[in-house]
Amino acid sequence: MAIQILSAQVVDQIAAGEVVERPAHLVKELVENAIDAGATELEIDLDQGGRRVQIRDNGHGIAKDELKLALERHATSKISTSEDLYSLHSFGFRGEALASIAAVSRLTLISRTADEKPFQIKSEFGNKSDVRAASGEIGTTLIIEELFSNVPARLKFLKTDSAELGQIKNTLKAMALSHPDVAFRVRTAGSLLFYWPKCSDLKARAKQILEVDELYECEQQIGSTKVRIIFAPPHKVAQSSRQMWLFVQKRWVQDRTISAAVLDSFRGTLMHGEYPIVVTDIEMDPEDVDVNIHPTKSQVKFRNSSDIFRAVIHTLRPALEKAPWVANLVRNDGVVENFSLQSLQPEPVAYSFEAPEFNKIQYQSKSMVHEQKAEYQSVSANVDSSRGQPTVSVNSPQSTSSANVHVGGHWSRLQVLGQAHLTYILTQSDRSLILVDQHAAHERVAFEKLMAAFRGGEVDVQNFLLPLTIPLPADQVDGLLLLQKDLEKLGLLIESMGPETLVVNAAPSILSEKAIAKAIELLAKEVSENGGSLAFDRVVSDIVATLACHSVIRAGQALSLSEMQSLLVEMDQYSFSSFCPHGRPVFVEYPFDRIEKEFGRTL
Ligand code: ADP
Ligand code: MG
Repeated sequence: MAIQILSAQVVDQIAAGEVVERPAHLVKELVENAIDAGATELEIDLDQGGRRVQIRDNGHGIAKDELKLALERHATSKISTSEDLYSLHSFGFRGEALASIAAVSRLTLISRTADEKPFQIKSEFGNKSDVRAASGEIGTTLIIEELFSNVPARLKFLKTDSAELGQIKNTLKAMALSHPDVAFRVRTAGSLLFYWPKCSDLKARAKQILEVDELYECEQQIGSTKVRIIFAPPHKVAQSSRQMWLFVQKRWVQDRTISAAVLDSFRGTLMHGEYPIVVTDIEMDPEDVDVNIHPTKSQVKFRNSSDIFRAVIHTLRPALEKAPWVANLVRNDGVVENFSLQSLQPEPVAYSFEAPEFNKIQYQSKSMVHEQKAEYQSVSANVDSSRGQPTVSVNSPQSTSSANVHVGGHWSRLQVLGQAHLTYILTQSDRSLILVDQHAAHERVAFEKLMAAFRGGEVDVQNFLLPLTIPLPADQVDGLLLLQKDLEKLGLLIESMGPETLVVNAAPSILSEKAIAKAIELLAKEVSENGGSLAFDRVVSDIVATLACHSVIRAGQALSLSEMQSLLVEMDQYSFSSFCPHGRPVFVEYPFDRIEKEFGRTL
């Protein structure tokens, strides 16, 4: 074939492939146009998985003279010079969407401005009609039918109607999240799918859309960058990253920098395969971000992405560390009263199991570590013999009330009722019965202590008289030696003794030897799998988590009342105390109203 210039129609069809690959993209373009036109109310009808779409808006409309132009390629009212690209305040600017859609569908555009009567124009797969009189209110209605009928290749590429509809729903949720001040009414096959009335703010909109009641908000302005994040508590998670909604300049984006920062902030609160439910809304100087790098505008390029990374972490992490959902455990005034549960017990039930005396353990004491280690060893000896014993121990209310003197923190305000299954600290607030996983809780405390010590460069270190030797594959020994200096900061002094032996000369005294060996082995594996180039700072919390996990109270260990109480007190001293470093929850809560329902006391 000889070289020839393609006809406008073919060009439009090719462009349509880029801009509207699937119905969801079409919906996005049309909603963006409506929002650009200042609409505050949208009515959207979807059929056939989005191959038929009707969208009505109350925006400013299109003048009669411009209706034809609106369907032309590179025809836009939003920019006129390339400089305008750097100070965009609209979604659209490419002038491509309507032309592209018109090329691959039967399109009807009806519009009315404030000063004119309504008019309409039609396009049948690119063939445009004349402009005619129509009827309608101020605003614009677009009807798209038979999408892709003239491009069978693209039709084949579409998924099932319900899959396409699923994508459209996601797109609409994103559009609505980025525009709380716009009302959305969405129908599919004639029945109402979504109705999101106008809201005052992002949090209210997020409640409408994410179907999570408990949401928290944080916000920070760093330079000209404003970060606002709405998040669900880490015990309400998603199984995929799809509930991480990211917006830059009100555009829904897929962005690695932001999602990495969000995930990093949630570090230590999520289990493997869990993802947070968050809405991240970033507004910045238009000069600092390029939105014109992708045909569907789903990606942006930051002038300085590490600034964005830091801005997100500095906004979200402290908010998560405050663990506001923990505050919800006890009533705001912190008074725990109404011990109705106990009043149901005629007599304090006697200990069904004699807790060994470990009153010497002072969780708060900084110098706890030495003795503690010895004691934990003796504890584990006890544990085995205690298995198979009755597993619930209940303390008398009298004995607990005096222990309940701490009013500062959320955890210490809880009233300890006893230990269940040698694993859970049974507590109550005025609202709920709360079970605290003793292992997970202590693990979190140990984790935070080690992290604090690490950050402050002052780990309580114990020098071994006889160095601990750990046999390891040669490459792992080499890998760990690369981290020698960093490990030193953690209180781990290592060196090699021959190619396949690592020697530990000193270690944080909080750790038992067994725990050290285990942690070193895990770390060695990690280093050999991820290479020696890994940034130590990024793995340090994993290492500390591993260290912490192997150094603390186990499940199956009997605790005295004061030990349980001190553990709760200590949890208050560290932020973030509601998840163990591996992301397991530290507590579960059974609200009394739920319990009352189950007993048939209330409906
Ligand atoms: P872009 O949005 O990039 O400018 P489009 O092809 O999406 O390009 O739209 C072309 C033009 O049509 C827009 O610049 C705008 O002037 C007009 N337009 C499209 N949709 C609407 C609408 N819903 N209300 C008012 N004007 C609209
Ligand atoms: Mg547009």
